[in-house]
Amino acid sequence: MPELPEVETIRRTLAPRVVGRTITGVRVLSPKFVVGTGPEEFAEAVTGARIKGLDRRGKFLIMHLEYPKRARASSPCGGEEARDGPAPGGGDIIVHLKMAGQLLWCAPRADLGPTRRRHTHVVFSLDDGHELRYVDTRHFGRLYFTGGDVADRALRRALQTLARLGPEPCQGGLDWPTFREMLASRKARIKPLLLDQSFVSGLGNIYTDECLFRAGIHPLRRASSLSEAEARVLHRAMCEVIREAIELRGTSVRDYVDGEGREGSYAGRLRVYGRAGEACPRCGTEIARTVVGGRGTYFCPRCQRLGEEPARSRTNV
Ligand SMILES: [Zn+2]
Repeated sequence: MPELPEVETIRRTLAPRVVGRTITGVRVLSPKFVVGTGPEEFAEAVTGARIKGLDRRGKFLIMHLEYPKRARASSPCGGEEARDGPAPGGGDIIVHLKMAGQLLWCAPRADLGPTRRRHTHVVFSLDDGHELRYVDTRHFGRLYFTGGDVADRALRRALQTLARLGPEPCQGGLDWPTFREMLASRKARIKPLLLDQSFVSGLGNIYTDECLFRAGIHPLRRASSLSEAEARVLHRAMCEVIREAIELRGTSVRDYVDGEGREGSYAGRLRVYGRAGEACPRCGTEIARTVVGGRGTYFCPRCQRLGEEPARSRTNV
């Protein structure tokens, strides 16, 4: 469920607090959450590493680690600083929150309540006395250690997914002519295509519906059927929705909170998502709910018409 704006908000709340800190200890309470290595090996590998940066790509958080002691020890002169990238035997940590993962920065004795206590799976101790806890009530999220066993199938799959992520919907150079070209060659329905992380990265079910509503495009339109003007409007809608959602620190409809446990406030700004039966804020027609590619999908049947395919225009809602 955390989509680009939520993961970016988590990154922004955590980065000033954890970047530059050294990991002084790791407790892996549920081994299945760490992928690519065993729990003891993972704790041993990253203890002593310094968090050099916290990046985001799509819905993934990437904790870049450097290993000063090992890097210096392996340097022939003994005085060289650690270089970019993992030192031999080291690696980065890729966090995929999936449905309900939370990465929480807190004091070591902080009691985050019975539910979070029960679902705390990995705890990093930092050299300033704080902790970074991975909490997940749904158990779908994972921490991938890139320095782990490359033959590990789950680790390899995650790294491939990361390598194949499409461009970010508004940052990273996806201009609208490029977007238009990308759409023109695809016959897929627009909603499942926007959800395909190898096409554009970071959009999930909530923001896809919001972007399509704002652009006035029916979720079942074929991508290649969008006119140049529609592609431009959709491109602009993606940028606006994502930017506004980041400004409001994301949408908390279920479990999402930022790195300090605070909820986001974009939920009140959602125009169609979760609003079946309510009046469309633009035309007053009842918002409809349908299922597209197995995902609950909200749209306004009047503002978002399936005009180009008359035979299918009576969408089942
Ligand atoms: Zn409407």
